[in-house]
Amino acid sequence: MVGNRVVVLGGGVGGVAAAVRLAGKFQVTLVSKSDFVYYADIPKLFFEGLDASKAVWPLGRLESAGIKLMRGSVTNIDAANRVVRLAEGERAIEYDQLVVALGANVDAKPHLWSPEGLNLFMDEFTKSANRRVVVCVEGTPYRCPPAPFDVAHRLASHLEKLGRKPESVTVIHPEKQPLAGIGLHVYEAVMESMSRVGVNVIAGFQLREVNWDRGVLTSESGEKVSFDLLHLIPKHTPPQPISQSELAAPNGWGSANRDLRSTKYDDVHLIGDTVAPTLGLPMAGFLALYGADSVASKLTGSQPRLTPEASCPVEASTNSIIPLCDFNPKLQGKPLPECTVARVDQRFMRFFRDLTRTKFLNEIGFS
Ligand SMILES: Cc1cc2nc3c(=O)[nH]c(=O)nc-3n(C[C@H](O)[C@H](O)[C@H](O)COP(=O)(O)OP(=O)(O)OC[C@H]3O[C@@H](n4cnc5c(N)ncnc54)[C@H](O)[C@@H]3O)c2cc1C
Repeated sequence: MVGNRVVVLGGGVGGVAAAVRLAGKFQVTLVSKSDFVYYADIPKLFFEGLDASKAVWPLGRLESAGIKLMRGSVTNIDAANRVVRLAEGERAIEYDQLVVALGANVDAKPHLWSPEGLNLFMDEFTKSANRRVVVCVEGTPYRCPPAPFDVAHRLASHLEKLGRKPESVTVIHPEKQPLAGIGLHVYEAVMESMSRVGVNVIAGFQLREVNWDRGVLTSESGEKVSFDLLHLIPKHTPPQPISQSELAAPNGWGSANRDLRSTKYDDVHLIGDTVAPTLGLPMAGFLALYGADSVASKLTGSQPRLTPEASCPVEASTNSIIPLCDFNPKLQGKPLPECTVARVDQRFMRFFRDLTRTKFLNEIGFS
């Protein structure tokens, strides 16, 4: 018999979707360090001239669905004693079932990968000359692997619209064949699209140092790339309450079986970015929603609604790309997901982004 108290850690897309699905069937408490949930597409905020506060949904709305909200920062998960501790006032919460959806830590550097990064990027954007634009991936893992290519092209178009057409736009990536992990054909399709829209790609660049004052990136092998505007995507790291707990795999990220149950504790479930690297999955909101659905179905004894399919689109004018990958084989221990690559124009891309947004908002109860 499953106990009635379910505690969900993390008020991002995965955590909120899980809480919404479990509400009414369990006594659900959602712990979040923020009062708001963000939709993934932070670049959209930037391109539409909005700051982070304009694209958030207040978590308070969930209380009408019977979800108890606790604002606070999780510092410790004591899975052996079924207790979670929060920083503020050393509060402790007991649970019968725990859903961990703490996402990934993203350093605040100038980028469009987190609300904190967005504010820093806005500053850089205003003060820089924007002649040589560089989007640099510092290391893997990071959220939504195709997104740096998407952001590079959208940045170039945005500058052009402002009458500040850049001299060059370059994506720098640490992998020799970026995205080949989800299929060589995905890598080839994205490289072809980038070349058609004039975005350069430097692959296999292991970043050693950024000199912000002189505008120079240096690789481990001594190669140098100059920039006027840099968008730096940091290597994401595991949330500290996971890496410092018994729930971590040797890589520091969550450790779970293919059914997303902790490898050590049956009453702990890990979903979304927190566990993706250990399962060999990319960090994707679609997979966080899948995780929420899968765990909620298991706990309520209902049929799952979602499959582990994910897509992160790459806008490239009339050569835009929507890769769609089925990660079911990957979850069954096979090496590569099955991906199809749709080539679309901007009009279709806008339609797809709107549909995606609606799906996300629907799953997190904000439609
Ligand atoms: C530019 C960009 C584009 C993207 N595009 C797509 C896309 O097209 N398709 C797609 O599928 N995915 C996309 N993603 C990825 C998607 O946003 C993430 O994979 C998704 O948000 C992961 O959900 P999550 O619930 O695991 O983590 P998050 O949404 O990051 O939520 C984690 C939550 O935990 C909270 N938290 C963290 N630590 C603590 C703590 N100690 N105590 C309390 N709370 C804590 C955080 O505040 C946050 O609310 C994109 C991401 C970016 C950056």
